Amino acid sequence: MSVRTIDVRERVMEKNNELALQVRRRLEEHRVCAFNLVSSPGSGKTLLLERTLERLGDRIEMAVITGDVQTRNDAERLARYTDKLVHAVVTGGACHLDARQILTALDAIDLSRTDLVFIENVGNLICPAGWDLGEEAKVVLFSVTEGEDKPVKYPSMFQRAEYAVLNKIDLLPHLDFDVDQAIACAHEVNPNLRFFLTSALTGAGLDEWCTFIEAHVRDAVVA
Ligand code: MG
Repeated sequence: MSVRTIDVRERVMEKNNELALQVRRRLEEHRVCAFNLVSSPGSGKTLLLERTLERLGDRIEMAVITGDVQTRNDAERLARYTDKLVHAVVTGGACHLDARQILTALDAIDLSRTDLVFIENVGNLICPAGWDLGEEAKVVLFSVTEGEDKPVKYPSMFQRAEYAVLNKIDLLPHLDFDVDQAIACAHEVNPNLRFFLTSALTGAGLDEWCTFIEAHVRDAVVA
């Protein structure tokens, strides 16, 4: 008997891309920006979001979709800063959010009252790279405790991102970490990557980050 092989992964990705297109259309219809935050676990996505919501919450209407594999911890932290928070439960050993989950999450968000959606993806630098969520851009975070060569070790994620945040710069005096080398590694895989250097803990660099976010949202509304 002959063996028939079907590429299941290809079909699943195709379906995901269709749904991502639907997400993108819905966001565009309401002129809502969406950033997909990706990083390995512990780079500071949740704290960066908390600080961003805290600083810009009274000027921009922000919603957050957060994916967590085992707990509601991130959702509970972020819920203190926004009334538009959706916790996507990631089950079945999945290591990333998918476009269907975002589409479902958008049903729970009043998009007419929203300027920007932050998606906090599952902490993983490999799996989320290939999954389009219908976002406007991926923002890749890494921290100074992780090693300068992270971008060349996980090139796919850095290639697909438009923005990079190098976080925890408050720890630099205690570490042997070369910021220029880290940025050079990232630009080696993606020369167009725009960098932000931050410490979500101390607030260093957050003025520039928040100014960028606010200007980006204003431009989207005017466009
Ligand atoms: Mg988190």
